[in-house]
Amino acid sequence: MKKIDETRLKNIVGEHNIKTDPSDLYIYGSDSSVHHAMPWAIVRPETTRQVQDIMRYANQDMIPVTARGGGSGMCGQTVPIQGGIILDMKRMNKILEINLKDVYCRVEPGVVDDDLNLALKPYGVFYPPTPASSRIATIGGEIANNASGVRSVKYGATRDAVLGMQVVLANGDLVHLGARTRVEASGYQLHKLMVGSEGTLGIVVEATLSFVPIPEFRCMGVANFDSLKDAGDAIGSIMAAGAVPSMLELVDSVAIKAVNKTMNLGLKEVAAALIFEADGMVQEAVDYEINKMKAICKQHNGQDIYASYDPKEREKIFMGRKKLFPALSKYDDNLASTALADDMAVPYSKMAEMAEKIHEIADRHHIVMTAYGHCGSGCMHTKILMDTRRKDQWDDAKQAITEVYDYVRSVNGTTSAEHGIGLSKAASFKLEKSDSLTLLASIKKAIDPHNILNPGKLSQAPENWVTATNLRYSVNS
Ligand SMILES: Cc1cc2nc3c(=O)[nH]c(=O)nc-3n(C[C@H](O)[C@H](O)[C@H](O)COP(=O)(O)OP(=O)(O)OC[C@H]3O[C@@H](n4cnc5c(N)ncnc54)[C@H](O)[C@@H]3O)c2cc1C
Repeated sequence: MKKIDETRLKNIVGEHNIKTDPSDLYIYGSDSSVHHAMPWAIVRPETTRQVQDIMRYANQDMIPVTARGGGSGMCGQTVPIQGGIILDMKRMNKILEINLKDVYCRVEPGVVDDDLNLALKPYGVFYPPTPASSRIATIGGEIANNASGVRSVKYGATRDAVLGMQVVLANGDLVHLGARTRVEASGYQLHKLMVGSEGTLGIVVEATLSFVPIPEFRCMGVANFDSLKDAGDAIGSIMAAGAVPSMLELVDSVAIKAVNKTMNLGLKEVAAALIFEADGMVQEAVDYEINKMKAICKQHNGQDIYASYDPKEREKIFMGRKKLFPALSKYDDNLASTALADDMAVPYSKMAEMAEKIHEIADRHHIVMTAYGHCGSGCMHTKILMDTRRKDQWDDAKQAITEVYDYVRSVNGTTSAEHGIGLSKAASFKLEKSDSLTLLASIKKAIDPHNILNPGKLSQAPENWVTATNLRYSVNS
């Protein structure tokens, strides 16, 4: 471990914005993943100039720097496996401009997603990529992860909403990438390169984002299914029919059981349910989309199909999905819900097979896994419910996720739909991108020659990286 020049850092950000106390370091050593590693210092900048000065110091002394927003990443993206500085970006939380004429806003990276939408609401517009973690996730973290959410099926992911940004590079230089216009064909789209880069290429200090009008009408529906296959096939058929859902979510039997148990929702305990929504400015157009989706669900043996415009009814339909993540931890008193390697995307035609595969693999390895997600955009999530104290459960879980990701790659799916790679999914990422890893590594080297920005991630994850290492759990041997 290198010695940090605390005096120099205090001169940059002030005494109260650097932390080296072991308890603080411990807390900042993990995110919402299963992983943990100790940083050497936490530094909390408030201005772009401070970020530049910190990076100049870190580059000169070759100290690793890992940016951190809300710490809600599920794969260990902010876990500093080579130590160094955690750059806590949450003090840079100003909304700088809401420009209704040019239809963009400019924000600092530490703005929390919900706070941005709260500020946009009075103008009748919203920022759509919004992940389920929007109460804590920051715009910087969402950009670095290419986050998406329930409405991305219609409105796109973060990459679709980012017009431009300002980035501090590893050597402290500030660069302006992208533009404030809708279109730009002036050379490499470097702002898009930053999207999904997980803090390995630069520190985002400002972002220009597009927004869209809040629709006048929203209608949400639900359909139950006796088999995962029917539900998965219905998703594929809805998308192939050219329907335009503003939400299309799958929940399986494990998810339904978990939310019933924790929230007493009284949902019918079927093999799977689809939640679908359409929105727009004209009610007839919304009706048209909803009727199309209802009819397709029926063709695939959907039951108890109904839809409603009533906000209270909509909330009731969506409640189980919204609260699913905490509910999964209560599924069984002896099992914890772990985000070991929990998201992927597959082509629509493989959605049903993917959901069934997750259950088949889980049963074979004596663990509980759930299949759910923003399936309208091809995204599938899973959580592994297991006794985290037992080593044999970790071994089974590791084997299970290896098989899940082998399947995903075999059907031309991708290792991450939206949660990113971090540490948990590094092994599958490297296999998926095997023919472009050298290219990725050269880009990283060109932009960050001293390898100080979130080192050991993406192209740099060790060849034989084992998913269940650097755990924040204590496991009995
Ligand atoms: C309950 C729950 C639900 C979730 N649901 C969703 C969902 O629906 N969709 C989804 O996409 N994700 C979801 N996530 C995952 C996570 O919330 C998102 O990935 C989110 O984008 C992370 O934002 P954050 O601010 O917490 O980033 P962090 O976890 O703090 O950081 C994530 C990555 O971004 C980098 N980073 C952060 N700030 C900057 C910056 N200013 N410049 C450069 N790099 C930076 C970090 O180095 C790290 O690599 C969920 C997580 C939880 C816990």
